[in-house]
Amino acid sequence: MSQPTIAFIGLGQMGAPMARNLLNSGYAVRGHDRDTSVADRLVISAGSIWCRSAEEAVQGADQVILMLPDSSIVDGLLWQGDAALSAKLKTGALIIDMSSSDPMRSRENARKLEALEIDFIDAPVSGGVKKAEAGTLAIMIGGEAAPVERARPVLEAMGKTLTHVGEAGAGHAVKALNNYVSAAGLLAVCEALAAAEKFGIDPHLVNQVFNASTGRNNTTENKVENFMLNEAFNSGFSLALMKKDLETANRFIGQVESVAEFSSECLRIWQDADHGLGKGADHTAMYRFINRH
Ligand code: NAD
Repeated sequence: MSQPTIAFIGLGQMGAPMARNLLNSGYAVRGHDRDTSVADRLVISAGSIWCRSAEEAVQGADQVILMLPDSSIVDGLLWQGDAALSAKLKTGALIIDMSSSDPMRSRENARKLEALEIDFIDAPVSGGVKKAEAGTLAIMIGGEAAPVERARPVLEAMGKTLTHVGEAGAGHAVKALNNYVSAAGLLAVCEALAAAEKFGIDPHLVNQVFNASTGRNNTTENKVENFMLNEAFNSGFSLALMKKDLETANRFIGQVESVAEFSSECLRIWQDADHGLGKGADHTAMYRFINRH
C-alpha cells in the first residue's frame, strides 16, 4: 500500500523536528504554520511542501497532524469560519491531535467528526525537543482501535514508546496528568535546592545526592544541570505551555470529581511564576522564580 500523505500543522519547537522525522521516513508532508518565518524548518526536501494556509495543507491529505499550543487553537482550526478544516477534509481522513489539548474537548471533537465520517485520535507526546529530534518521543494515544492502528506507522516515525491508553480524549488526559506530576516534581526540586543553598550547601552536590537517592526525578536527572543551575533556562518548553497543561490537569481532575488539593496549589504557584517571569520564559526558569528573594 502507498504511504499516506500527511498534513502537518504547527511547526514550532516540537512540530518541526517531528515533521522532519516523517520526511526522513519517506512520508510526503504538507506543512503549515501561521508564523511564516518557520517555513524553513520544514527543510525543503523531495517530500515536503510548505502551504500558506491550513486549508491548503489538508488538501488531499490522508492524515492530518496537529501540533498546536492548545485546544482553543485546535478547535478554532477545526470548526471556525469558512476555512474550518472539518469541512475541507476528504471523507475517511484521519486527524491526529498531537498537541497537549483538553481531554473533554478532544472527546467532543471525536464525536462531532465521526458524524462527518472523519476519524480522530489524540496522540500527545512527552520527551521534549531532544526526543522530538531523535524520534524517540513517548506517545500516549486515545481513540478507537482501527484509526489507532492506521496511525501507528506514522507515529512510530516520531516516537519510541506508543501506548494506547483508552478512548478518544484518554491520551490527552494522561498527558495532562503526566505534566502535572512532572511540574510538581520540578517545583519540589526548585524549593529544595533553594533551601539547601540558603543553608550554605552547594546545589550541584545536593542534586548529585538526589540522583543517587529517592528524591531523583526527571528534573534532577535532566534539567537541573542542563538548564537551571547554569541559568540557561532554554529547554525549549515554555512556562506558559506548562501552566496550560496544569490548568488542563486541574480542570480535568475536578471534572471527574477526584481530589485536586495538591494540583490546585501547584497550579497557583505556576500561575504566579508565569505572571512574575513574563512572556517567553522557559519552564525551567521556575528555579529563578523560586530563588527571587
Ligand atoms: P510552539 O509554540 O513552539 O509551537 C506551536 C506552533 O503552532 C507555533 O509555531 C505557532 O506559530 C503555531 N500556531 C499557533 N496557532 C496556529 C494556527 N492557528 N495555525 C497554524 N499554526 C499555528 O509550541 P511547542 O513547544 O512546539 O508545543 C506544541 C504542543 O506540544 C503544545 O501543546 C505543547 O504543550 C506540547 N508539548 C511541548 C513540548 C516541548 O518540550 N516544547 C513537549 C511535549 C508537548
